[in-house]
Parts: sequence; C-alpha cells; structure tokens
Amino acid sequence: MSMEKLIELQEIDTKLKDLIDLLGDLPIKVNELNKQEESIKSTLEDNKARLKEIEVESHKREVLIAEINTKVNKLKDQLFLVTNNKQYDALMHEMDHMKDERSTFENEIISLLEEKEELTNSVVSMEADLGSLSSDLSTRREKLESVISESAEEKEILETKRSERIKDIDVKTISIYNRVFQARDALAVVNLSGNGCGGCGAHVPLQKVTEVRANSKIHRCDVCGRFLYSEKVSEN
Ligand SMILES: [Zn+2]
Repeated sequence: MSMEKLIELQEIDTKLKDLIDLLGDLPIKVNELNKQEESIKSTLEDNKARLKEIEVESHKREVLIAEINTKVNKLKDQLFLVTNNKQYDALMHEMDHMKDERSTFENEIISLLEEKEELTNSVVSMEADLGSLSSDLSTRREKLESVISESAEEKEILETKRSERIKDIDVKTISIYNRVFQARDALAVVNLSGNGCGGCGAHVPLQKVTEVRANSKIHRCDVCGRFLYSEKVSEN
C-alpha cells in the first residue's frame, strides 16, 4: 500500500472536520438553551398549578370563616336567653373556640396570599425570561439548521468518498490512523518538514527520511505517531 491512499483519507477527513468546525459551538449552545427552556416551562407549569391550588384553598377558608361568623352570631343571640352562669360559660367557651378557629383560617389566608404574590411575581419574570430565551433559541436554531443544510450535500459526498477510500486500506492501518487522528488534533498524516516531522517537529532519522521520500515504505513519526510522507514538489 502506498501513502497516497492515506493522504487522500486525511484530505477527506480534514474537509469533514472543517464542516463540523463550521457549526462551531452552535449545537452545544442550542442544546443548552433547549434545556433551559424546558426547565423554565416546567417550573412555570408547576407555579401556575400551585396558584390555582392557592385560589381553591383560600376560597375554602373564606367559606369556613363565613360559616363560623354565622354560628358566632347565633351564639351571641343565645347569650340573651341563658338562665345561669354555667350555660353562659359554656356558650362563651364555644364562641372562643370558634374565634380561635377563625383566626387560624385568617392567618392561613394571609400566608396563602403572600405565597400567591411571590408566585405571581416569579411567573411574570419567568414568562419574560422565556420570551427572550425562546426568541434567542429560535434564531440560533434557524442558523444551525441553515448551516447544517448548506453543508449536508458536501458532507454526504465526503462520507461516500471516505467509505470508498477506506475499502482499499487494510484494517490495521485504518485503526492506527483513526487513533492518531483522534489523539493528534485531527492530523494523522503529515509532510516531512526538512528532516523533521511536519506534525510535531521531531527529528526523523536519515534512513527513514530517505525511505519516506522514496515512498517505498510506510513510516510513522517515533514521537507523535503520525504517518509521514514527502510531497514530490517539495523535494530538492
Ligand atoms: Zn511527529
């Protein structure tokens, strides 16, 4: 196997990487914004559900207070009809108990109203946040989709080329290539730079340089592991 196939593979992979780089951090950003949007939406739903609950709970207590008021008024009327202290004390005791109950309900209504106010404020500000977030998100989504669709055709062509190219290269070499490509900043095949590796700059022994130039054997840099080749044009 000659180096040409690996050089071609590197060229294809460089172009594929350029396409991915073109997207930049857009996919990550869109993903983050999606998560934020979901989380705000779900908190908003919870808050709105709680607001409804508060309405129901407050109303229940208002009804109970009205009932107590009616009962207390009846007891007051009965006070005029009592004939002894014992009855009087019993009525007073019952009224006190009802007033305590009423005061508990009133306090509960106050805390419910406080909670309602806090929740309403938070719902308003969250809805504003959601509005600006959603518009930011849709702008970025559109941009991402347009960049992806613009490069989709080119990407498909390159991927087809890549799978064709790979067929002619033995599995072991491909596996080394992939590993070096991953580990060495997407550059697995490099030109000699004088007597050094074009990737990491390490010195390449003269015997190896000669063989690389003659394209007679496949060699890799001892330091970074990249495949070495020599461009014919750059040969002296
Ligand atoms: Zn190297």
